[in-house]
Formats: sequence, structure tokens, C-alpha cells
Amino acid sequence: MWRAVALTLFPEMFPGPLGASLAGKALTEGVWSLEAVDIRRFAMDRHGTVDDAPFGGGVGMVMKPDVLSAAIAAVVRSPDMAAVPKVLLSPRGAPFTQARGRELAAGPGVVLVCGRFEGVDERVIEAHALEEISVGDFVLSGGEIAALAVMDCCVRLLPGVMGEPLSASEESFEDGLLEYPHYTRPASWIGPDGTERRVPEVLVSGHHGKVADWRRTQREEITRRRRPDLWARRRTAKVNEEK
Ligand code: SAH
Repeated sequence: MWRAVALTLFPEMFPGPLGASLAGKALTEGVWSLEAVDIRRFAMDRHGTVDDAPFGGGVGMVMKPDVLSAAIAAVVRSPDMAAVPKVLLSPRGAPFTQARGRELAAGPGVVLVCGRFEGVDERVIEAHALEEISVGDFVLSGGEIAALAVMDCCVRLLPGVMGEPLSASEESFEDGLLEYPHYTRPASWIGPDGTERRVPEVLVSGHHGKVADWRRTQREEITRRRRPDLWARRRTAKVNEEK
């Protein structure tokens, strides 16, 4: 069973949206497990203090190293958690990718440390060799939503979670390309602007080869137009392959 452990000041945020739909069903069926550990339980004083003012001054508060470290240590102490990657959600982390999600999903699970306030004391990151992961170039108020995003990406890749296992290989990012456009019935649809929109003819042609070609071209065009960064990386990868 794939194990996710979230260390958080807000355990009530879990499983949250992951209790519904495919992830929720897989959770109930025991395909994966989720444990939310309340960091405040490890506070050292009777007020339950978990944060303090930053050395050097400045705004906001910082999560205390002693309390957070005790929480992490309690989780990784169990032998079955020793080999599990330990992640800190952080806007300055490495951008999370489908590739990293696939690696994590193939392993035993993940420990996700959710920051709050201005973040965590740097020494905890060092001492526990936390891998810093960002879910995008924007700032959330805490790591919980980022942790849920990482878990969701991993869980849907676990065997038996998605109805159609093949569909993952054609998905956005799996091969460095974004997805082609989707269409379903009705073949002709009149939208709110009164315009009739028909699905591309090739998709109703029944010609599988032509459909595959069309989808490929669409993926390449969309990627080139919307994500020149992905497109450039793909070109570089290809050139290196040919060398
Ligand atoms: N002072 C920090 C922001 C702190 S936000 C800075 O300027 O970078 C509080 C917490 O939310 C962080 O510790 C982190 O755990 C989480 N968080 C915020 N944005 C995130 C993002 N883009 N990816 C992952 N975690 C994020």
C-alpha cells in the first residue's frame, strides 16, 4: 500500500478533496493510505507554541526547528518509513513535475511537510535532508493545498486507480507535449453565440491512422504556441538523442 503522511498544523484539511472521486475510492479500498500528523502535538510548552519571530528581524513568524523536527522524527522513526522520501512544500523548491510524481508513485510513499507563516527554520531542511518541492511560481498561505496536489498526482498513477491505464501515456507532459483537444457528442453543437460548431471531420472519419496524425499535429502546435519552454526543451532532448 502506497503511504502518504502529511505533517501539518491543520490535519482537518486531509483528506479533503482527496476523499472524493477516484482518489477517495482508492483510499477506502486501501490502495493508498493517508495520515495527517498534527505538528502542534509536538510543541514543547503548554501553550502549544509552534512558531517564533525571525532572527534578524522582519515580518511574520517562522516554524520552530525543535517542534517541527520532533514531528518529522516521530514519523520517520518507524522502520517502514525510513526509505520514504521526505518533502517540504516550498515556493523556492524544484518545480513539481509529472516525472517526479511518477517516481514518487513508484516508491513506497511520501512524507509531506506543510509550511505555514513565513516558512520553516532552515536548519530543519538541512538536518532532515528535506527535498523542497514547489507546485508553481505563486505563493500559497500554507503547504497543505500543495501537498494535496502532489498526492493527487501520485495517487492517480497507482495501479488500479484510473479506469483506463493506457490514457496516462498520452497525457500532457508524459512525453513533453501538451494534450490534443477533446470532443464528444453531439457532433454538431450550437453554442450561446448562436454559431454551429462541428467536431473536426477527421475524428468522425473512422480512420485511426489519420486521427493519430491529427492528434499528434495538434499536440505539437499547442505546445509550441502555449509553452515555448516545453517545446524548446523537447527540441534539445531530440538533438541530444540524435548525437
Ligand atoms: N515567505 C515565503 C512564503 C511562505 S508561504 C516566501 O516568500 O517564499 C507559507 C507556506 O506555504 C510555505 O512554507 C510552503 O510550505 C507553502 N507554499 C506556499 N507557496 C507554495 C508553492 N508555490 N509551492 C509549495 N508550497 C508552497
